Amino acid sequence: MSRRDENTGFDCLHCGARIRPVSNGGYRNHCPFCLCSRHVDDRPGDRAADCGGVMDPIRLRDKPGKGLQIEFRCRVCGTVSVNRIARDTVQPDDLLAILRL
Ligand SMILES: [Zn+2]
Ligand SMILES: [Zn+2]
Repeated sequence: MSRRDENTGFDCLHCGARIRPVSNGGYRNHCPFCLCSRHVDDRPGDRAADCGGVMDPIRLRDKPGKGLQIEFRCRVCGTVSVNRIARDTVQPDDLLAILRL
């Protein structure tokens, strides 16, 4: 699968927002408004998981060299994953939502 295929928009399962693809060359993996994600990846971006559960943001962590990341846990299967914060794009992550974590 190409990078272009991965960078698709989707509707947030949690708040229903219509989310557009990121415009900064990365790919969108969580809602910029409520920060919820969806369990579609085994590893970030691979879209290999068939779970499809909502992933709640649980905490913020700072990874040296990579910047701030959000840790998520799947409501359905409990898998924990980490995503980078989306910035410098259309619909950047809501800073206030991030700060509430
Ligand atoms: Zn949302
Ligand atoms: Zn899951």
